Amino acid sequence: CGVFGVFGHPDAASLAYYGLHALQHRGEESCGICTSDEGAFHYHRGMGLVKEVFDRDRLASLTGTNAIGHVRYSTAGASQLANAQPLVFKYRDGDLAVCTNGNLVNEPIIRRELEEQGSIFQTTSDTEVIAHMIARSPKDLVEAVKDAFSRLIGGFAFLIMTKDRLIAACDPNGLRPMVIGRLGDAYIFASESCAFETIGAEYVRDVQPGELLVLDKNGLREDRYAKLERRAVCAMEYIYFARPDSDINAVNLHMSRKRMGQQLAQEAFVDADIVTGVPDSSISAAIGYAEQTGIPYELGLIKNKYTGRTFIQPSQELREKGVKMKLSAVRKVVQGKRVVMIDDSIVRGTTSLRIVNLLREAGALEVHVRITSPPFANPCYYGIDTPDRRDLIASSKTVEEIRQAINADSLYFLSKEGLLEAVGGHAGEQDRGLCLGCFTNDYPTRVEFEHAKATSC
Ligand code: 5GP
Ligand code: SF4
Ligand code: MG
Repeated sequence: CGVFGVFGHPDAASLAYYGLHALQHRGEESCGICTSDEGAFHYHRGMGLVKEVFDRDRLASLTGTNAIGHVRYSTAGASQLANAQPLVFKYRDGDLAVCTNGNLVNEPIIRRELEEQGSIFQTTSDTEVIAHMIARSPKDLVEAVKDAFSRLIGGFAFLIMTKDRLIAACDPNGLRPMVIGRLGDAYIFASESCAFETIGAEYVRDVQPGELLVLDKNGLREDRYAKLERRAVCAMEYIYFARPDSDINAVNLHMSRKRMGQQLAQEAFVDADIVTGVPDSSISAAIGYAEQTGIPYELGLIKNKYTGRTFIQPSQELREKGVKMKLSAVRKVVQGKRVVMIDDSIVRGTTSLRIVNLLREAGALEVHVRITSPPFANPCYYGIDTPDRRDLIASSKTVEEIRQAINADSLYFLSKEGLLEAVGGHAGEQDRGLCLGCFTNDYPTRVEFEHAKATSC
């Protein structure tokens, strides 16, 4: 999912609209904006893309100088309007709006506790649990938020808006990204810095793990609710999820993906006629592989840009249909050629098999698959959509068996060391400050909770 916040700008809703549009790749299922106009909340949420859910009149009705907004994809199939965010609540001090990107691992436990104490939940969303924890606390808002956050285990970036404040916080490991920017006197928050480019805001810095930032009429107050023990920024953000024009912790995504391609070329060179990347996420890596090997980069695959990201569509059946709608091979480019095909990850293997077959049907002589991540053998507990372990092809098959399953002439996965080298990250920290849980099964938090799987984002 993606979050976006504005504090102190007369066009808060419009800025949120353009910001969320720039974050659309982080979730296409539903979206919403909530504004605060001197304490009066206005909000709208709907199913679909930002440009479909909001029109000029709708935006004009969302008056106020502060706003938070959200784009969502569901991970547990509960694809419904009730789970669209921001969620808005009434509590003793007025209105409270909350939106989040990520997943709380211990959410089922906290939810059960709250239910035993009498809470009634309207959604299956993690976000609602936070609102209840805050609302039940007798303490002042910031202290209540800090108490609530210190109980959470997982990966998350939160925005909380009250009548006169905006609070932003990231999980203690910094798993999910969030950045701070300025636009004139206003403060802007976004899941990715690409949203700042869109609205002309200036990047200030990344929100730090365990940090809690409070904006009110006195300006920005930097605080924290947890100390940094282990930084573990999601490696999949670098590999796949974030947009190439974004920077996370000062690392540009396009450049790091290019380096992943260069690393792949060093680790697994193969003699071929062209290199092609699976659009959009793997174009950067394909350019890097081509640069490193001298094999020409070619546009062997074209994406129909009117189709959403296939993994966002909830069912396997839809997902399989989606792939055909989405990609085509360029026959004149690949016919009679030995092709190196770069992709970011193999999750179930179904997409990869289809793409290899697309290239073969278009006349490719050989298809050599190079993946810019290690084998994805373990589920993610922190909000990146992954199927059950048994559906992860790398959890039960060897690389050679996967090669056969996807019908490739050769297959290679980038090494963990190659990945760390390409991202750069924080030298001297464990795994350079990255989470690699889905590759290594070493997660930065406890994950062995009962998974009465709630809807995360
Ligand atoms: P596969 O070969 O596993 O079907 O699909 C691999 C491609 O689709 C990769 O580009 C991967 O990023 C994307 N993909 C497919 N399914 C999922 C999923 O459930 N979660 C994530 N994170 N990516 C997926
Ligand atoms: Fe990202 Fe994988 Fe860690 Fe999940 S387990 S946060 S997908 S690196
Ligand atoms: Mg892909």
